[in-house]
Amino acid sequence: MTEQIFIDDPYVQYANAKVLVVHDNGIELDRSIFYPTGGGQPGDTGVLRTTDGREVEISNTLKDQITGRQMHICAEDKPRLVVGDVIAMEIDWQRRYRFMRMHTLLHLICGIINAEITGCQIGLEKSRIDLNTDEKPNKEIIQAELDELVSRDISISVGWITDAELLAKPELVKTMSVQPPKGLGKVRTITIHGIDMQPCGGTHVARTGEIGKVRVGKIENKGKNNRRINVHIED
Ligand SMILES: [Zn+2]
Repeated sequence: MTEQIFIDDPYVQYANAKVLVVHDNGIELDRSIFYPTGGGQPGDTGVLRTTDGREVEISNTLKDQITGRQMHICAEDKPRLVVGDVIAMEIDWQRRYRFMRMHTLLHLICGIINAEITGCQIGLEKSRIDLNTDEKPNKEIIQAELDELVSRDISISVGWITDAELLAKPELVKTMSVQPPKGLGKVRTITIHGIDMQPCGGTHVARTGEIGKVRVGKIENKGKNNRRINVHIED
């Protein structure tokens, strides 16, 4: 299992790791700062460098759900790395930080609208969240509430609850499409103090003020009881 550094600190942009396995198109490491595709958030991109000048560009990151190992997908086949190499990792921070802001913004929407999530997709320019509700959300009200929550600069914290605690509080699981991983004994939670708490394995900012200027886009009907809210970040 790859040690996932971003779980405890999503702000780490550089760190060292050791190469465990080299595939034709991917690298496995003992530890990683690269977030693997999941929960609607795209996998990280970046670069791996050895001290003797070899460099491998990473075009995506994926996680094997069974082994828990992360595959760092290489932009070019046959990466020039060997097992045991110690490498310096660097993620594309601008891209990742944008995803962190977008991802946290979607949690704010969960705090505003009390409905189950049926899907979400995080993008650089636009993100969307699908909610299981037959009421049409009011765009102006959502915009005003999001603006207020961002301007209050509320702190966000990462915690853990046990599987048993989660079982006793099923209302915490708002995502119908992606259930939190069970069987590890504990589940990671994201708390936006006073606004929202839910299990999530993604990367988020530390305060709502970091999200910046947001704009609520189209609100669409996507079938019975399914409302899609599109949101943008303006800078
Ligand atoms: Zn999240």
